[in-house]
Order: sequence, then C-alpha cells, then structure tokens
Amino acid sequence: MTDSTPVRPVTWWGGMPVPWIAAWTQESIPRQLLTVYHGPDGDRLGLQLESPVDRHYGVPWVRMPAVRRGRPRYELVHALRQRQAMSRLLCQLCGGPTIGSRPDDRSLWLMAARGGETLAEGQTTTAPPVHTPCARTATEHCPPLGHGWRAALVSSAPVWGVAGVIYEPGTLRQLPAREDTADGLHRVPFTSSLIHWVLAVRLVVTLHGVEPVTDLEMLDLEAPEHH
Ligand SMILES: [Zn+2]
Repeated sequence: MTDSTPVRPVTWWGGMPVPWIAAWTQESIPRQLLTVYHGPDGDRLGLQLESPVDRHYGVPWVRMPAVRRGRPRYELVHALRQRQAMSRLLCQLCGGPTIGSRPDDRSLWLMAARGGETLAEGQTTTAPPVHTPCARTATEHCPPLGHGWRAALVSSAPVWGVAGVIYEPGTLRQLPAREDTADGLHRVPFTSSLIHWVLAVRLVVTLHGVEPVTDLEMLDLEAPEHH
C-alpha cells in the first residue's frame, strides 16, 4: 500500500451520501445527433462531428454535460463518470481509486440485493467497485441498500462490452428498450457485430475470482499485514 489515501471526501445532500457516479439535475442527456460512418470495415454508428473524446473502446458514447450541479438524481447513473469509474476502477461512492487500496490487490464490489444483478463468478455488471469504508457508509445511509445488499472481493474485472441503445443499421431507428433489465439498456459484448450500432451509456465488465463478503465491519480488520 502507498501512504496516499485513496478515499476521497464523499458529497452529502439532505443527510444522504451522493454516489460519485450519480447524475445531477443539470446533467440531463440532450438529443443525440447521430450519423453513419463508412469505413474500410463497413458502416458503423457515430456521432455527428465526432471527436476522440466521443469514442471509447471503439464505441460512440452518449454526449451529456458533466457538471455535478443542481440536485442529485440518486436513481440515475451518469454515463461518463460510470465509464471512468469502471475503466479505472474508481470507487462509485467517492470517486477515488480502488486499485492499491487493499493489501491483497483485490477490489470490493457492492450492490443492492434487489437490483437484479448478482455477484457470481463470471457475472457481468455495470456497477463500479467501492472502498471498504465507503461500502460501510453506503450500507448505512443509502436507501436502496437498506433492503439488503451483496458484496464480494474480486480479483479481476476485465471489460466485456457496453450497455446502451441499439440503432437499426440503415434506418437508424432506435430498437425498443429491453424490458428484462432495470435500466432498459441492451448489453452488447465487444465480440458482437451489434457493437457497431450501439450508442454506449455504460461500460460493462465481468467479475473473476469472486469471494462473497457478508460482514463489511470485519473486512480488512483481519487482513494479514502486507509487506
Ligand atoms: Zn470510496
């Protein structure tokens, strides 16, 4: 471990912690201006007047403001902060790095039991990791976790694909939202040809080396010293 603390101050609003990945009222998503780019490998979806900041992992990402102003919208995840948190393994509550924050180089993952996602080996998820102290804060103060939560230590979380909106090639008609996912977004792996027709809204990873955690209070207190 380094001597710099990876846990950052958490933003509070009305007695509740505001997750770093939560969207705020001044961060609403504007209408997206889409186009089709013709490349050597075929046609693909793109944003009009695209710049390098618009495309990540080869996929166009939804354009939206990132100002954290107004009021927090706890129920909404901010697309750009989610991607940053997932790709750099930043804590979803405080936004600080989770890499190097534990002596065993694993990361802690936490989610509401009701959310529909589990923490099984090989499971895909859109919920970024969390620091141990931030997980304790979240389970104590975040209402969705008050109905139960799942936690696990995870060895690695390679990127799998994106969650987003799929557009029909040619017509650019938006495919209907998924009804079997809480956010209505389609999950598209990077290996699928559909990846060329999705506007990404979340980065999706898979979890490997999953060890369930049932007691956050005891976590790290019993961890062996790391030299
Ligand atoms: Zn944190």
